[in-house]
Amino acid sequence: MSLSFIEALHLNALDELKRIPKSDLHSHAGRGGNISYIEAWSGAKIEPPGRPFDSLRDMQAWFESNIKIHCRGLQGYLKRIEASFAQAHADRIEVLALSFGLDEISALGGMKTFMGIIDELHRCFAPGTSFFPELSLGRESRIEDILIEMDEVLAYRWFASIDICNDEFAQPIRHFKPIYQMAKAAGLKLRAHVGEFGTPDDVQEAVEELELDEVHHGIAAARSVTVMNWLADHHIRLNVCPTSNILLRLADSYASHPLRKLYDYGVLVTINTDDLLIFNQSVSQEYLNLYQSGLMTAEELDHIRETGLGYVGSLHKHH
Ligand SMILES: [Zn+2]
Repeated sequence: MSLSFIEALHLNALDELKRIPKSDLHSHAGRGGNISYIEAWSGAKIEPPGRPFDSLRDMQAWFESNIKIHCRGLQGYLKRIEASFAQAHADRIEVLALSFGLDEISALGGMKTFMGIIDELHRCFAPGTSFFPELSLGRESRIEDILIEMDEVLAYRWFASIDICNDEFAQPIRHFKPIYQMAKAAGLKLRAHVGEFGTPDDVQEAVEELELDEVHHGIAAARSVTVMNWLADHHIRLNVCPTSNILLRLADSYASHPLRKLYDYGVLVTINTDDLLIFNQSVSQEYLNLYQSGLMTAEELDHIRETGLGYVGSLHKHH
């Protein structure tokens, strides 16, 4: 007999959790695989990071010298994308957003070949997963450079959403307004990394300036009742990545993660991996960690799981 998600959490049954449908709505495609998958392919022994990182730069340096070194060049890149799909299949991720940068499109020779290769990997390694590709723009990018490429990228109607990633302080987010207006006109879901390292006001400002539908991270909002109420009222969903936050020193532990506060104020949240090849916790493990820490009940986590799968809207406003 198979267990329900709630029963599986109560029984600490990771294998059962893996068999139950879930979503991963924030995963960087080239860093979304499982470390053991890369170990098996490369024959290398890879130790997960045993300590928190001091910065995104520190994290990137770890990734270069512990993961990328074993999967070099185009072949290594494609193996990492394959690993992301294989992980989604293994953890029964039924709704998967993977984000790609403009540099990844050009490295594969432009949109047409890029889409063909990625779609083929999806078909081969995660055929049961609904895949929603996301275009992720570096916050440090020159806006003019992005605008030159947007028409061609959007013309294929392949990307389902757009995002801004990397250093939140690189430039004001409103600089991206013309790009987000194009993306909105093309029907993309609008997301951005904000309120990870920044402030509650940064979250609200980004949502207002760019008309965001969702925020990646956004956990800083938990420091402002005003901003949490505003997010809840506007049904803005935060795609939260607990282990990423802990390993980047943005939360002290699962037991004290701001997810609790956001949920209590009625902010829509989902649970996601961010960079599984670095943070080394699958979606199933993220749920189990949050349950075992006592932060959330099994029923609340099941509600969050359903939110990610799109089953429910804003139903749990408590105040
Ligand atoms: Zn991210």
